[in-house]
Amino acid sequence: MLPEVAESAYTGQISNEEFANEVRTERLNLIWKATLFLVIVALWCFFLFRVGDAQTIFIPGAIVIIGCLHARYLLKKQRLTEATWSYALAAMIALGFLLITDTKTIRELMPFLSLVPVYVVGLMLPIRAMPPLIMINSVILIVAPWIGDGAIKVPNESTFLALFIGLVSALLSAQASGELYGIAEWALESYRRERDGAIRLFENRKQLERSLLRQRALTDELSKTNEELVEARRAAEEAKHFRGQFLANMSHELRTPLNAVIGFSETMLNFPPMYNMVDLPQEYRADLVQIHNSGKHLLNIINDILDLSKIDVGRLDIDLQRVELDPIFKGVMSTAVGLVGGKPIKLQRNCPDVLPDVLGDPVRIRQVLLNLYSNAAKFTDKGSITLGLTCDSNEVTISVKDTGVGIKPENYEIIFEEFRQGTEGRRQARAGSGLGLAISRQLLKLMNGHIWVESTPGEGSTFYFTLPLYREELTKTESALMMEPKVEGEPA
Ligand code: ADP
Repeated sequence: MLPEVAESAYTGQISNEEFANEVRTERLNLIWKATLFLVIVALWCFFLFRVGDAQTIFIPGAIVIIGCLHARYLLKKQRLTEATWSYALAAMIALGFLLITDTKTIRELMPFLSLVPVYVVGLMLPIRAMPPLIMINSVILIVAPWIGDGAIKVPNESTFLALFIGLVSALLSAQASGELYGIAEWALESYRRERDGAIRLFENRKQLERSLLRQRALTDELSKTNEELVEARRAAEEAKHFRGQFLANMSHELRTPLNAVIGFSETMLNFPPMYNMVDLPQEYRADLVQIHNSGKHLLNIINDILDLSKIDVGRLDIDLQRVELDPIFKGVMSTAVGLVGGKPIKLQRNCPDVLPDVLGDPVRIRQVLLNLYSNAAKFTDKGSITLGLTCDSNEVTISVKDTGVGIKPENYEIIFEEFRQGTEGRRQARAGSGLGLAISRQLLKLMNGHIWVESTPGEGSTFYFTLPLYREELTKTESALMMEPKVEGEPA
């Protein structure tokens, strides 16, 4: 197969039929050139050695040369069938001319030479071209000697033999070439399929490579973002730690003078013996009460800030133990009387007679309850504040329900954040630090509980918090686990 034919076939631009024709064209090109060369060499030898009659050899030679050149011309026009016929007919007619001479050797040999054009046509054309070819060949082989002799004679044995061999070789060559072309076409088809598969694979591979590159870029970006995130987190934790430390130092520094203010104002109000029994003039008393109350309020805020800062740096000590709730409830409710002041608010208790014990820190449980009561008292103008308790097999749920201003659902989470207040808290009369609930949530986390709120604006709010039940039969491991509370994101 010639390279250019093969190449165009491989690139898939021609059909199998065209491919076969190109191969045949190349083959016929080779055959006519070889024939032309042989004829010219034969003529050259004839002129050199002057063998026999000039007309005998020249006319057939000329016919073959014309046939070859005509075939070439037709091949250039891509008319393969006509070119094959042109070549074969020229060769057969030339042989016929040779058979006209009555030289014995030529008459015996030439019929066999006629096998050449028969074979060529068999190679080039489909099997249906064989009958006319054999016919023409037979007519020439039989009739040419009659013309030479001027009489009709029975052809000799070599003519019959040549005719027979011509017939067989024509059939065989047509059959063989047909099969060969079939195989070549099948191979070409397989090659194309494989090549298409290879191209698809190549495309897929390229796509995969592109995806891999994209994925690698994304991974790089992700790891960079992760690094930035880790760095940001570290910075945030550092900032939180410094904030905690700063707040702890600051609240400590503030508490000392504040305690002096509260202590002295209280002494001035309540212990005249300390001042040689000289009574405080009434005009000063109201202002001093104000100083005393404000001082205590400030101390509460500073204590809250101190708690928060301790939680920030993970240093808030929680003393988990078996806690009886009843004394705490009683203490908180009596404090609540003072918190409510003169407002028409009923303080109620809706708990079972016998309260279960819980696992927690009594001081911190009291602190949480007081926060809730102080808020309830602050945000309720009339009605009631009810302390409730329910219990299941694992934990108790304590609730503080008021009939105050209520909280909008969109603020349910915000109010538990540090320094955040619901819109209700902004009213001057109810202004606070926005720390109470944030600290309560953290304290409860440390005691393995949690806190949430349910409310109807305008009707009231109920704050719930849970605490684990204290159980004697807790295994040592369980107790140890519960005794090591952990707050999310906080160092242990
Ligand atoms: P504050 O010192 O401002 O009371 P808290 O953290 O205790 O700080 O409360 C945060 C906010 O939650 C309050 O400002 C208020 O808006 C809202 N809040 C808390 N308790 C109640 C309540 N019982 N009724 C209505 N609003 C409440």
